[in-house]
Amino acid sequence: MLNIDLHSHSWCSDGLLAPQELVARAASNGAKALALTDHDMVSGVVEAREACEKAGIHFVPGVEISITWGGRSVHIVGLQVDENNQDFISKLDANRSGRVERAVEIGRRLEQLGIPGAYEGVVEQVSDPIVISRKHFSRFLVDAKICSTTTEAFEQYLKKGRPAYVFHEWTTLDKAVGWIKDAGGIAVIAHPGRYEISETSLLALFDEFKQLGGAGIEVVTGSHSRDLYPYFAELAKRYGFLASAGSDFHAPGETYLDVGKLPPLPDGLTPIWKDWF
Ligand code: AMP
Ligand code: MN
Ligand code: MN
Ligand code: MN
Repeated sequence: MLNIDLHSHSWCSDGLLAPQELVARAASNGAKALALTDHDMVSGVVEAREACEKAGIHFVPGVEISITWGGRSVHIVGLQVDENNQDFISKLDANRSGRVERAVEIGRRLEQLGIPGAYEGVVEQVSDPIVISRKHFSRFLVDAKICSTTTEAFEQYLKKGRPAYVFHEWTTLDKAVGWIKDAGGIAVIAHPGRYEISETSLLALFDEFKQLGGAGIEVVTGSHSRDLYPYFAELAKRYGFLASAGSDFHAPGETYLDVGKLPPLPDGLTPIWKDWF
């Protein structure tokens, strides 16, 4: 199987490496193809593409769009999108627009919990507050020695149902899929095992996504447990979804899969990249 990684982040959104550093790391791990999929933005794509060309790696321009579905945040990855499509860029910009207010509110909640200075601490990590994600807060909580890992920060403070969680209304599933298609790309449900919803809801999400013309789901991902790969492999077959694979790499040591270092897809699936290279 081709060594491919179709989900990764740079410091343009909430990763810690520059696009060039990300590509270098993927190359040193033996990757032959890489997608950059920053949150609601494509601004790192030009640099990542250039670096991939130099490193002799196939590049896939991508994005990860936040949506609200059934009252929860769900992520839709768009692959092979046109990063120069201005209409697409404006829609992504609009989807990021509430991040500052939400970050201020997360900071306020943490302060009430006896953890001051979080918003200010997070602002220092980013080039522009418009990109602030909960990932940045999780790093702040680790740096401040309040949590020992970023995962623990989500478990204790930041995920839905925890005291510093702030609901945010992102765009909708049908809009996100439409934006991706209009930008020439194909849509993939990211890390389907991370949403903590019932199986009934999950299957309803898959049905709706399929009807809207969604193409695939991530079967191999660093963002949910390996134990779930066979389950999502079966669902991909049942729904006729193409199978994607991505580390969801953000920074060294933050996830169990490094960029460009993925296990193979389970047997019997159609890889989403089968006609690409
Ligand atoms: P946001 O877009 O601000 O809601 O933040 C979501 C980001 O936080 C994701 O892109 C991941 O990087 C990270 N994230 C979300 N949930 C978790 C989790 N349970 N454990 C670790 N990181 C997570
Ligand atoms: Mn992220
Ligand atoms: Mn995600
Ligand atoms: Mn991601």
